[in-house]
This record gives sequence, structure tokens and C-alpha cells, in this order.
Amino acid sequence: MKDHNADLMTGLVAALPEGRVLTDPDVTESYARDRTFVAPGKALGVVLAQSRDDVVATLRWASGHRVPVVPRGAGSGLAGGATAVDGCVILSLARMTAIRELSPADEIAVAEPGVITADLDRAAREHGLMYAPDPSSYEISTIGGNLATNAGGLRCVKYGVTRDSTLGLEVVLADGRVLETGRRTVKGVTGYDLTGLFVGSEGTLGVITAATLRLRRLPRQVATVAAEFTSLRDAASAVSAIIAAGCRPSMLELMDRTTLEAIDSWKNIGLEDGTRAMLIAQSEGSTEEMAALCGAASFVAEASTPEEAAELVGLRRLAYEAKERIGQCLVEDVCVPRSRLPEMMSAVEDAATRHGVTIATVAHAGDGNLHPVFIFDRGLADPPAEVWAAADEVFRAALDLGGTLTGEHGVGVLKRRWLGLEIGPVSAELQLGIKQVFDPHNILNPGKAL
Ligand SMILES: Cc1cc2nc3c(=O)[nH]c(=O)nc-3n(C[C@H](O)[C@H](O)[C@H](O)COP(=O)(O)OP(=O)(O)OC[C@H]3O[C@@H](n4cnc5c(N)ncnc54)[C@H](O)[C@@H]3O)c2cc1C
Repeated sequence: MKDHNADLMTGLVAALPEGRVLTDPDVTESYARDRTFVAPGKALGVVLAQSRDDVVATLRWASGHRVPVVPRGAGSGLAGGATAVDGCVILSLARMTAIRELSPADEIAVAEPGVITADLDRAAREHGLMYAPDPSSYEISTIGGNLATNAGGLRCVKYGVTRDSTLGLEVVLADGRVLETGRRTVKGVTGYDLTGLFVGSEGTLGVITAATLRLRRLPRQVATVAAEFTSLRDAASAVSAIIAAGCRPSMLELMDRTTLEAIDSWKNIGLEDGTRAMLIAQSEGSTEEMAALCGAASFVAEASTPEEAAELVGLRRLAYEAKERIGQCLVEDVCVPRSRLPEMMSAVEDAATRHGVTIATVAHAGDGNLHPVFIFDRGLADPPAEVWAAADEVFRAALDLGGTLTGEHGVGVLKRRWLGLEIGPVSAELQLGIKQVFDPHNILNPGKAL
């Protein structure tokens, strides 16, 4: 078997320019995980693609030999999507970092998959534009990973998620053919929406090698307000009221007490004893109406300088790392209609109490998207039974409230168990059929997403 694998890899090395393939097991291991605790399988090696042709050669070789391929961006995923499977080749797109085009006149950019999300945003800013989808991980995540997970972020409450900024894609299919989807116009309905299908497909239908992305005008002014609450449910109710009143926040984020404590113990933010939740809201107009709708808050203040505003938003972006300092994390990602947010918050608090587990929740609250983070002992390989029992309750509560299992992280391997509850047998059958059309030998990220 060993010799067979060595022969296989010799063929791959021969198919690619020098230096693209890594087979040292220690090095391979360092590409095998994402940000979850999910134990990876044993990969045959890693391809460090530098061009579309490298991806084409890799997939031609892989489909010829029926070798599984796990596409990988930065490995910051939270669903186990980029974890290696046994006998696979990990296809890293992280070195494909060109912004092929940036057109201020058409407000678009054409970016390769390894471009770091915040780098694209910075490049756009030089022209008075921005790339709106900004996951908290935007300084480390890649555009390819964002596309494959349909990532959301803090600004998405106003500008929509990654799919809403994607006009077209260049994709290498399982057999090595190159497919162009979509267009560079802001409208267009020719043919089925293959662009929309690939966005969020978690590397199971093809490997994205470039994307035509929509840019937006940088807002002239942004006002930032922070509000503290003595009850989590009150904070959630304020969010529902802000949305119901038709305010158009450009950011509306929530952090619960456990999250704030984790940040406080790291960054010493002077957390008050009675504070159970904090909202951070931004508006490109006035924050007056939003602040007024935070009537139950114990404290409301508008940031007086851009630096103060950046500091507040920066704290929110630190939330996940702050929790990782306390223990291992199972990060969940349910999303509910925004009017049901208070009920969902209560369901999370109830699940934590009933099962005696620590849950620290942050939320892209303006989207109804909660991240209840289940924190467990670092010494354990997997979450203990009570964490899974509480997570199961949280998933079912979200579905009962008309919500979904995952707002932005994807199904990966961690949510596959519950997928059937949400999509049902007819959709499952059709989705497996779609997978069969694009990837008849099931070599693309097998065992993920479906
Ligand atoms: C601190 C922190 C904060 C986060 N905050 C957010 C947040 O606010 N919003 C959010 O949505 N997510 C968030 N995430 C999760 C994560 O950053 C996103 O899912 C991100 O989109 C993953 O990008 P990546 O480059 O790391 O992809 P990876 O983790 O490498 O891969 C993710 C998935 O995409 C597939 N893939 C990667 N590249 C390609 C490609 N070129 N073609 C086809 N498939 C591909 C992989 O196979 C895998 O299934 C956060 C993560 C961390 C660690």
C-alpha cells in the first residue's frame, strides 16, 4: 500500500511544476486541520497551488486515480470543512493571492482564492470603495474560503453575505475542466445560477480559482453606539425592535456576559458587575433612533472618535480568540428570524443551565445569527456528552423558531448529523443528485456538507 501511494504521489509531482507538492508527514499534518477540534484523517500530501493550471493538473490526476481532494484556504473554518480525510491530497489555494483586476468604474474586483479578505478590502479602500463581507476572521480568512462557506460578517446586516457580493466565478471541476460562471454586470439571468450554487458548496462541487466580486462605495460617515444591558433577553429584544422599526444599521452585534468576561480577563475592559450583555451598533446615518430603542439598557453611549469606535469593534472581533483562551470551543451558528431573537437567546441560556455547560454567545444579532460557543475542557479530544445534548437542544430550538442550523459557517462535518432535520428527504435527494453531476466519483471534499 505504501509503495502504491508513493507511486501515486510520484505521478502528481511529475504533473506539477517543481516544489508544489509536500509529502513530509509532519508538514502535511500542519495543513490537515481547521480551527475545530475535529481529528483529521491521514493525507498523502499537500499541493501548494500557485496558478489555475496547478489546480487543473491536480484535479486531472486526482480524478484519474480517484484520490480525494480537500480544498483549503486559511484553515480558519469552524465546521471541520477543511479537515483532511484519509488518503486525500490537501489542495492549498493560499498562494494564489493575485487581485487580477480592480475596476472603480464598474465597482468590481477579480480576486484569486488565496487573497486575504481584509487585503481585498484595503485594496478597494484606495479607490474609495470597500469589499463588504467582513467575517471577524477577515485578517486571516481567504476569499476562496469565504466563497466556499458563503461567509457572513459584521457589515452583512446592511450589505448581505458573500453570495450577495459575488457576480461570477472561475471554477476547476473535478475532472479538471474549467468553468466560468456568472458575469461582470450587476444584473443577468442567462441560464441557471451556478455562481449561487458554488457559493456555500464547501469545496464539494469544484475548486474556485477566481471570483468577480462586487465592491461598494465607502460610507462617508459611520456612527457607533454601545449599549449595556442587565439582561440578555432585553438586549435581544432591543435588536428585534431596531429591525422592526426599519432602522438600517450597518452593524448590530451582541455579546453576552460570559463572552465579555473572557474579553475582560484578557484585555481588562472594566466590565461592570451587573452587565449581562452588550450591543455594538453602527449606522451610516444617525444612531439616535437605535439608541432610543435600547430603552432597557443600563448604559448607552456613542463613540466620540473613530479610534474609540474602532476599539469597540475590535473587541467584538476578539471575542472568539478570548474564548479559546478559556478552553476548547464548539462554535455553533444558528440563525433565526430576527423577531424570534429573544426566544432563541432564552433557549440558549436554558440549555446551558439544564445541561450544566458553559455557553458564551456572540451574535451578528442584526442578522438573527447567533454563535453560542460551547466551552469544554482542553484535555478532552471531543466535546463531552452534555455539550452535544445542549447543542442538540439549541439546534432544535432554532429550527422550531423558523431558523436554520448554520447562518455562515457551513455544515462541514460537525452539523451533518442534524442536516436531515432541516432540509428533508426531497431536498437531500436533489442535492445528492447535484453532487453526482459535478463530482461523479465523489473525490471533492468527500464526507463534508451533505
Ligand atoms: C476568530 C474567527 C472568527 C470568525 N468569524 C467569522 C465570521 O464572522 N463570519 C463567518 O462567516 N465566519 C467566521 N469564521 C469562520 C471562518 O473564518 C470562515 O468560515 C472563512 O470563510 C473560512 O475561510 P478560510 O480561508 O479559512 O477557509 P478554510 O477553513 O480553509 O476552508 C473552509 C471551507 O472552504 C473550502 N474551500 C476553501 N477554499 C476553497 C476554494 N478555493 N474552492 C473551493 N472550496 C474551498 C474548504 O474545503 C472548506 O470546506 C471565523 C473563524 C475564526 C477563527
